[in-house]
Amino acid sequence: MKDTLTGLDSYEIFLQKLEKEMQEIGDDRIIVVYTDIKHFKYINDTYGYKMGDKLLKEFVNEFMKASKNIACAARVYSDNFVTANRISDKNLSNEEFRNLIDQVNKAWEREFREKYLNSRLQFCTGISITDKNSRSLEAETAVSNANLARKVAKEMEHDCCVLFDQSMMEGIRREVEITSGIPKALAQKEFQVYFQPKMATDTMELIGAEALVRWQKPDGKFIYPDEFIPLIERSGQIVDVDYYVYREVFHFLAERIKAGKKVVPISLNVSRMHLNKMHILDYIKELLDEFQIPCSLVEFELTESIYLDNTERALELVDGLHNLGIKVSMDDFGSGYSSLNLLSKLPIDIIKLDRVFLKEGELQESDRIIISCVVDMANRLKITSLCEGVETQEQSNYLKEVGCQMQQGFYFSRPIPQEVFESFIDTNPKTVVRT
Ligand code: C2E
Ligand code: CA
Ligand code: CA
Repeated sequence: MKDTLTGLDSYEIFLQKLEKEMQEIGDDRIIVVYTDIKHFKYINDTYGYKMGDKLLKEFVNEFMKASKNIACAARVYSDNFVTANRISDKNLSNEEFRNLIDQVNKAWEREFREKYLNSRLQFCTGISITDKNSRSLEAETAVSNANLARKVAKEMEHDCCVLFDQSMMEGIRREVEITSGIPKALAQKEFQVYFQPKMATDTMELIGAEALVRWQKPDGKFIYPDEFIPLIERSGQIVDVDYYVYREVFHFLAERIKAGKKVVPISLNVSRMHLNKMHILDYIKELLDEFQIPCSLVEFELTESIYLDNTERALELVDGLHNLGIKVSMDDFGSGYSSLNLLSKLPIDIIKLDRVFLKEGELQESDRIIISCVVDMANRLKITSLCEGVETQEQSNYLKEVGCQMQQGFYFSRPIPQEVFESFIDTNPKTVVRT
């Protein structure tokens, strides 16, 4: 059976052939190469499916030309391809083979990006190697190991070709442990909301805070969002965790208002996963109705990359939030491929400069220039600017000098638990109260 589009073997036939190659391995190595075309969807969306199909065929041609050692090849699905290569050359190390593939991938990237302008196409490859010591592996395991390495490659910025190694299995074990623990963690309130104050640059008053989630396991150990959020984004569970955080924050604000205590606006992070289903606006409306707090008391932060990945949906969300009277910020500005163009397209209220500009030690001249230009641009576009990751007085002073209106960082406070934040508000005489 053949794949009708590319003429390659079907995946089932591929597995049968691979199984046979592995049984007859002798002193050779069988190298399974699993490749995925990153940003291929862009081609279908921009140039249409016909062009997408053409690109896949061109790719397969290149793919087959590139190696003389291919024993079998298949399209697993969509833009995912797999080949098995038999290598007899004992002088070629595994790492050298990886380098070869890496070079081929990079050459394809240059070629295809030229042909399909603006496509950002990238070839991500995972490699698993079987030799006589590991030939008891099943063909399917060899492919799934290569696929796992490919997923690791996909998350890397530059390295697009990764060799499988056993430690990746540890990563999977941790992923399963985390994702399977989420329902219980939600039910048993293992998540806590921490708050990190935001200060006004001109007066050093407390003018708000960002809500940041923490997961404290029953044994007292913390799991930090940098570890668990990427994993539960993949599984889609982040949506429930975000909603949990939003509800806690609305509840917190409503309770303080009821008790006649001071309150400041709290900003909430929005995962990219919300853009898939877009239930988020309804949920926020529900919370506003249920807790009856002024809409000026909550803000939402969308990372720069969310806007870049899905500008239309992001725009819909920003408009929806604005219709509810809620402010929106662009988070982590400058951390990735910032598109200045986006700033004029999107009606955002606040731009949060990423902490990459404030590296440890003295402020670098180049960072000073960038910060002052971004702040200046934001001012002209009538967008409020906030710089995060402020750790020293020198940095804080510089932000004042260039007119950045708000600051957030360890210099003022780390993210703190609710009770500590409450005493921060109550004892900070300069708290700006906005209701
Ligand atoms: P973020 O939105 O960029 O949040 C700011 C992160 O920078 C926080 O890390 C904070 O602790 C850290 N930070 C603040 N000031 C400083 C500083 O002066 N120096 C340094 N080195 N770091 C500073 P945290 O709390 O570990 O959160 C990491 C990321 O996880 C957040 O980055 C955000 O993207 C995500 N996150 C946290 N809570 C939530 C949530 O409830 N929902 C979603 N979707 N994402 C969340
Ligand atoms: Ca944030
Ligand atoms: Ca940020």
